[in-house]
Amino acid sequence: MKLLVVEDDVRMAGLLQRGLVQEGWAVDVVGDALDARHAVASTPYDAIVCDVGLPGPESGLEWCRWLRESGHWIPVLMLTARSGVEDRIAGLDCGADDYLGKPFAFGELAARLRALLRRGETARPTTLVNGGLVLDPAEHQVRWQGRELDLSPREFALLDYLMRRPGDVLRRTEILDHVWDYAYDGTSNVVDVYIGYLRRRLQDAGCPEAIETVRGVGYRLEVLP
Ligand code: CA
Repeated sequence: MKLLVVEDDVRMAGLLQRGLVQEGWAVDVVGDALDARHAVASTPYDAIVCDVGLPGPESGLEWCRWLRESGHWIPVLMLTARSGVEDRIAGLDCGADDYLGKPFAFGELAARLRALLRRGETARPTTLVNGGLVLDPAEHQVRWQGRELDLSPREFALLDYLMRRPGDVLRRTEILDHVWDYAYDGTSNVVDVYIGYLRRRLQDAGCPEAIETVRGVGYRLEVLP
């Protein structure tokens, strides 16, 4: 497996490279978006780790958008600022597959990369569709059978996360980790509260009950007909 690391911070790039090589992966490192373009044009990578903050005219987000627009479906894990919820949302909007806030535990980075590598390279349209439910991350719109839902940013982020994993049981802590800021220090009850809000929004729009409570574990978005 061959990985590309796009990170200008020499210390961080070195740390990533050493760690990933120890995991048994081959790793190339580039320091900006332009070099990253050249790298993906010449080498078939299995996955990419990309920092949001890059020097030069193109940020990690813009580079990732370019990557998808030019038809590359290599899994991308985006590294974002610790408290950057906006960065994370923007990261998913631009076609990244996962994101991790800095600072991160290396073990978690490796685990997420393994998960991405298992999924492999499939064309992933930027619109998420589950039956009559359609979510467009870039346009920030959700529709049930063509009818637009009015969701708060947090409700939207929650549904976005659920719609990326239809049929999977998602633990509360996992949802919290992906939808809430790392700086959030409340309890996972907030997940239950927002699931409640989201259910009501969906119900108001006429969508059948789609979010199943898995007792003692978390929630599951059913695959809708
Ligand atoms: Ca950087």
